[in-house]
Amino acid sequence: MGNMKNSLMDRILNWIACHDDEPPFLLVDREILKEKISLIGRGIKNSRVFYAVKANPDIEVIKYLSSFQIGFEIASEGELAILKQLNIEAERIITSNPIKTFKFLREAAEYGIDYFAFDSVAEVDKLAKYLPGKKVYVRLSVPNEGSEWPLSKKFGVEIEEAVKLLIYARKKGLDPVGITFHVGSQCSNVYNWHIAIDKAHQVKEQAFKEGIEIKMLNIGGGYPIQYLKKVPDIETIELKINSLLQEYFPETEIFIEPGRAVIGDAGVFVSKIIGKAKRGNENWLYIDVGVFNGLMESIGGIRYQYIVGSRLEEKEWTVAGPSCDSMDVLDKSVLLSEPDVGSLILILSAGAYTISYASEFNGFSIPKTFLI
Ligand SMILES: *Cc1c(COP(=O)(O)O)cnc(C)c1O
Repeated sequence: MGNMKNSLMDRILNWIACHDDEPPFLLVDREILKEKISLIGRGIKNSRVFYAVKANPDIEVIKYLSSFQIGFEIASEGELAILKQLNIEAERIITSNPIKTFKFLREAAEYGIDYFAFDSVAEVDKLAKYLPGKKVYVRLSVPNEGSEWPLSKKFGVEIEEAVKLLIYARKKGLDPVGITFHVGSQCSNVYNWHIAIDKAHQVKEQAFKEGIEIKMLNIGGGYPIQYLKKVPDIETIELKINSLLQEYFPETEIFIEPGRAVIGDAGVFVSKIIGKAKRGNENWLYIDVGVFNGLMESIGGIRYQYIVGSRLEEKEWTVAGPSCDSMDVLDKSVLLSEPDVGSLILILSAGAYTISYASEFNGFSIPKTFLI
């Protein structure tokens, strides 16, 4: 573990020692958030950062992030309600979900949001009706290979269709200003951005011939964080992206929409070990945060780092959540010193896509979040 994580660990342990809240809970560290905000986008010229609220919409987290004057990317009326409560200005909000609910469109119009993604004729028709004259950007389909959480099948169009849609949007009285894509979440394949920017460039050139000027390129989210597997760091990724952008989009305003990379490393779950069992040759460890109340991404392949306080013999464990569902298994072959039932277990890099996915299935409560 590096220095950053060591001092994070000190702050986490200190907080636990000074509070008697009952686990499970999620601690979100201000220092790490601050570092991430200062780092992301630094390597990309002419860029603005919009935090993807779905990664973690906790109101204290949003309030703290907002103090750095960043923007926010939202997809729904519920996410808008959080930003409204904090009086976050409409100029700092964009919406990149290509298919939006009618309620959201009405409320976004009323609030004065100006930027909207789309990737279909039907959505252009909706936008033209509810948000005439607003700035719109088309979502391209791009490769998602090498990302842990691919998104490309659900949204996005190919180059030719993207150009047609931009033309159609103009015809319907919208202002077609941009292009967007998403390389997939937790993307450690830098080549995905390469292909995506190349495709976006082709759209830009073809649109230009039709008299449409692309003023904004939204490169989406997807920056990875380090769980157990090594990933390229943000500086390296941005260096690569920036050199491509300088070549193909030298004058264009760049939007970045990171979710995971902002909040993931700042969050640590504090959970309690509620049971141990030996089943055949397998050692099972049961903890009070599981797939349903916080660690949903485990079933999509994310492997978290677990920490226990024990100094006993190391063993390999199958780690499982508290519910009665057999899908509620977090990881296998996790090497940990044997902990006591009733002791704490920490789960690192748990700030993103944990609480925002959580349900109270089987009556296990969703862990509270504390900003520390
Ligand atoms: C989820 C999402 C993001 C954030 O993705 P991360 O992988 O968490 O960075 C950004 N943009 C859009 C449109 C998204 O759906």
